[in-house]
Amino acid sequence: MHNIRTIVFDLDGTLYEDTHHFRYYADLLREMLPKEYQASFEKDYSAVETDQHTLKIGRVYDAKEDLILAHQNGNVIDGWQWDGEKVTKEELNSLYPNTLEFDLFTMLSIGDLWWIPVSIAKHYGLSSEDAYSAFLQTREHMMTDSFILEPLKEFAQVLEKLHGKYKLVLMTNSPQTDSDVILKKLGFTSYFHEKIFEANKPASTSEQLTYISNKFNVSFEEMLSIGDNYINEILPAARLGCHTICIDSFNLFEESESNITVKNLAELAELLENDLLNEHQSESF
Ligand SMILES: [Mg+2]
Repeated sequence: MHNIRTIVFDLDGTLYEDTHHFRYYADLLREMLPKEYQASFEKDYSAVETDQHTLKIGRVYDAKEDLILAHQNGNVIDGWQWDGEKVTKEELNSLYPNTLEFDLFTMLSIGDLWWIPVSIAKHYGLSSEDAYSAFLQTREHMMTDSFILEPLKEFAQVLEKLHGKYKLVLMTNSPQTDSDVILKKLGFTSYFHEKIFEANKPASTSEQLTYISNKFNVSFEEMLSIGDNYINEILPAARLGCHTICIDSFNLFEESESNITVKNLAELAELLENDLLNEHQSESF
């Protein structure tokens, strides 16, 4: 990674690890459902939390067909009904002859914890509009003083040092107003040379990375993309030739195209410190 000049960071799950806002989001989504579905929503949510549901991080929820899918690089390899019953290979082949195209409304890639409650809510009939409004309300809650966000100290120190040596870019699917507040709570406001909000990852990841490459006049090989969502931040970046670091807290991506995989922010901080800040930088990858 010795020729890196620009580093692109995701926000949620990448610059901080807090998770208690997912419960808040789930509560909002549940309350938007008709009364008769609320208990089932809760039952499913608990089952996912204890890994007793077919819905899991790393899978896909097809809201149109109401199916849960496992895939490898977008090719469906397994599928289940909501209740866990397997879908036959023949049916899968006829439903998904092509590589999956993920979007934010019907073909949901469960790349991080945001997608669990929203997939369950959609299964019980919640509209995309309601789901998005619950998302915005959660982000708003995260802006209030009662939502405390502490940065990981080691990571904050590394980020500050990186800021002096590299062009740092924030690229998030979240809106600007609340993302700015989160950055402020973390104390990271002044560290980014460019911020891209509502980035529409993964559909527009390549386009955004191309924009960054042009803006800072760097090649893809001189860029490093860091994120906790493999589909959003790692795969499209790796395909372009960028270096990548995947934060994989759930051990999902054994056969990943990521250059490096770390478990959490502490590991990420250590890696960045050793490979991008130390004078004798490793050139091993
Ligand atoms: Mg993320």
